[in-house]
Formats: sequence, structure tokens, C-alpha cells
Amino acid sequence: MGSITIEANESGRLWAEDPEAWERLCTPEGCPMCGEDPHPEWILAETETCKVSAWREAVLPGYACVVSKKHVLEPFDLDEHDQVRFFLDSMATARALAKLFSPAKMNYEIHGNTVPHLHMHLFPRMPGDIYVGYPNHCRTVFVRSEDEIDRMRQAVRSELGRRLVG
Ligand SMILES: [Zn+2]
Repeated sequence: MGSITIEANESGRLWAEDPEAWERLCTPEGCPMCGEDPHPEWILAETETCKVSAWREAVLPGYACVVSKKHVLEPFDLDEHDQVRFFLDSMATARALAKLFSPAKMNYEIHGNTVPHLHMHLFPRMPGDIYVGYPNHCRTVFVRSEDEIDRMRQAVRSELGRRLVG
């Protein structure tokens, strides 16, 4: 198995190097996640509180992202009702991915160091994946087929069930 070299990426770079740009990014007006979704075809499901997306390019097979519909930086910025809904929707999505991919372990990550709009990354981790020995470092890219994304859509929609809107 090859080894991973960790190189710097965009994580936290703006707040360190351009605080004004970071401040703009923190507002709904300056936030790319609040703008029009450039790839609505990769949305797997939508609930009252979130959208679940599986972009064509991902750092691991089975990766999906749960994005809050409300622009908040921190989970605790949501009111309690939406905190509960966001977490339950995220867990239903994680369960769907776990059923579909049978990972050794599901990983859950909330950072927002590059885009400060609440989103939870879901990474199904496999015995043979490239990050064994590390947490996921988002330094590789897999390209998923439409078929794989469709299977994820069906699994996630089935698990979210009556939470779905639209
Ligand atoms: Zn936003």
C-alpha cells in the first residue's frame, strides 16, 4: 500500500491570510452554499432542514455530504428543533450509506474551515481504503458513476422516508 503525503490545502487559509474575505464568506450573501447549487443533479434528497449531496468527484467511494438549509456557522447556531432534525437526518443518511456500502466504520466530520456553512461529511471507511492509518485527509479524488450515485440516492431516500420534502 502506498503512503500519503499530507500537503497544505485551503483549510483555514482564508481566516489566516485574508480575514476580510473570510468574514464575507461567513455571511449568507458571500456563501457559496447559499447560492444557487451548480449541480442540483447530485442532490440525493431534501428534508425540512437539509439537502444531501453526493458530488461526482469525492474523496472516498460512498462519500456524501449533509448540508444545512439554514446558513449557520456552528451546529449550536441552529435552534433546538433544527439541531435535532439536522442530526437525525444526518444519521438516517449515514445509516443508508452503511447499509449500502457495509463500511468497517462510518466517519462523521463537521469542519467548515473552507466553507463556513454547516455541513456534515459522511465517509464510509473500508479496510482497504487509502486512508488506513489516518483519518480521512481529503487528498484523493474518486469519480463516481451515475449508477453509483443513483444507488446512493435510492438508499438515502428510502432511509429518510417521510422526512423527505420535494
Ligand atoms: Zn451559507
